[in-house]
Amino acid sequence: MSEPLLSGRNLRKAYDRTSALDAAWFDLSAGEIVAVTGRSGSGKSTLMLCLAGVLRPDSGEVSFDGVRVDRLSEAERSLLRRREFGLVLQFGQLLPELTVDDNVALPLLLDGRPRRDARSAARMWLERFGVAELALARPGQLSGGELQRVALARALVTGPRIVFADEPTGALDSAGTQQVLELVLDTARHEGMSVVLVTHDNTVAAFADREVVLADGCTTSVSAFGPGAS
Ligand code: ADP
Repeated sequence: MSEPLLSGRNLRKAYDRTSALDAAWFDLSAGEIVAVTGRSGSGKSTLMLCLAGVLRPDSGEVSFDGVRVDRLSEAERSLLRRREFGLVLQFGQLLPELTVDDNVALPLLLDGRPRRDARSAARMWLERFGVAELALARPGQLSGGELQRVALARALVTGPRIVFADEPTGALDSAGTQQVLELVLDTARHEGMSVVLVTHDNTVAAFADREVVLADGCTTSVSAFGPGAS
């Protein structure tokens, strides 16, 4: 079997005295869409943040494309995230002082893309997510669902190898959820991008190829379902 693109092995992480991850395991292949599910407090967000190199686990290994992410410095992890990953976090990743289109263009600008190119890529993704008319607004003027659409546009604009999305549709109604997930997953399938989709919602998880279930910080089951399953 080929090596997974991303793996987490025996991950442990505690916040002060609260254990959030307790021997969690995770594998992701290139082009695969995996849902991470489990009850609130089961460690889903913490697992995603460790896999994406935002948090360093207390112990265990995270590997991406042959690189031990858990051994990288803060600066190296930040560069890795910018170059290879698209992140949709639950709280506050858009900069309130920038317009929506500058927020979406920012990852490209940080990578040295000319302003005009970055702007036009940002506008294209805003259009795809149905929020082009908000390009000149500031995040504080947007609803929760609009913010989620903008955050997804921002995560996809760089053409990342993996998109990590934590409850990315929690503020959308069911039609909006379906529309947005179809767009993300069609893009992933078309571009060969992988997706880690953290959700407590079974209807969202059903869009994935596979499900990894957490309970009390531990991976309890790994199942195959969705379009790839028989
Ligand atoms: P989930 O995403 O499944 O809701 P989390 O990873 O957010 O789970 O949380 C796992 C456990 O860690 C919970 O008990 C939660 O209260 C705790 N926790 C998460 N983040 C923090 C934090 N920043 N500080 C302290 N405890 C935290």
